[in-house]
Amino acid sequence: MPMTSAVKSSFLTLCVSMVLLLLMLSACTRPGNDIYKQQVFAFGTVVEVSIWGLDQQQARQVVAELMSGFEYLNRTLHPRQGGSLARINELLPHGADFSASPAVLPLIKQSTDLSRKSDYLFNPAIGSLVRLWQFDQMPEEGLKPPPAHAIQSLVDMNMTMENLQIKGISMRSDVKELLLDFGAIGKGFAVDKAIEQLKDMGVDNAIVNAGGDLRAIGQPGDRKWKVAVRHPRQQGMIASLDIAGDESVFTSGDYERFYEYQGQRYHHILDPRTGYPATDVMSVTVIHHDATTADAAATALFVAGPEQWHRVAKAMGIKWVMLVDKDMRVHMNPAMAQRISFTGKPPEKLILSDVL
Ligand code: AMP
Ligand code: MG
Repeated sequence: MPMTSAVKSSFLTLCVSMVLLLLMLSACTRPGNDIYKQQVFAFGTVVEVSIWGLDQQQARQVVAELMSGFEYLNRTLHPRQGGSLARINELLPHGADFSASPAVLPLIKQSTDLSRKSDYLFNPAIGSLVRLWQFDQMPEEGLKPPPAHAIQSLVDMNMTMENLQIKGISMRSDVKELLLDFGAIGKGFAVDKAIEQLKDMGVDNAIVNAGGDLRAIGQPGDRKWKVAVRHPRQQGMIASLDIAGDESVFTSGDYERFYEYQGQRYHHILDPRTGYPATDVMSVTVIHHDATTADAAATALFVAGPEQWHRVAKAMGIKWVMLVDKDMRVHMNPAMAQRISFTGKPPEKLILSDVL
């Protein structure tokens, strides 16, 4: 079945497993507004950098510096083309020891820790499953779910980051089918790196927003940063949030990358327990200090679903969550309810959880 244009464009919006392309789109300092904004294309999506407190020329230089960082991580974390992770994925199936790139090892270690805390619902060791579903590439049309037996045989191997043996920079895998995919965390990692770079350059007030997923530092003057949370089924936003200080807001949604086959939607967030796209959820938004954790958690809580998100959020140390389930019921913890402002009509069904 041909993919819709929405599907095609949503295919473009996902992260590090994508094209290495970096193109400046625009830059502006809006009249009467001292926030400098510049958009660049990176991680397969539009990244908007907002900076407060620098003049236009300084801000432009700062964004130029960030670009080379984005470009580098794009290449490094692509699962199958040209960079360090692609090389690791070539070597893992041999089962022998090899030297892993120091550019990727910190993310492997952080991912292992986050994967454990998430009860392996965030599981970057399911690269083979992602490949089987073809969510790591972008064929133009004709996508259909893989055969059930192929899915099941990968699920039965129960591959996790625990199957990796790492000593220093030496690494190998116990299971020859294991491939890594950092699609669920790479964008967060890259946003954290960009914020670190900004801080090193003396920028105290900024947002790095990669296709709606962002980290903010400081604030624009005496205001707060206001950020939008996208509606999972309509154009525009469902809610907004005020952010001050150093915080990240990440959303995982079933609308970001999907195809339809025989009237059914198949999206890109897979439940490692079944091998199929996670059911029951349309989107999950998480606020956390660092973007890497927020990104991994948004994916994990999406998989956890309406019944288990609270337990998994607690285990991952997440304090603010909003989950929109498949029936448009909005679940959140009380602290999130205090911070979020719905755009337009508040949700018909709001389900408040216990304190996180
Ligand atoms: P996100 O949009 O951050 O939720 O990440 C989704 C991407 O992460 C997918 O396109 C896959 O590349 C990968 N992925 C899918 N399911 C999982 C999972 N359960 N754990 C880790 N990565 C996943
Ligand atoms: Mg994620």
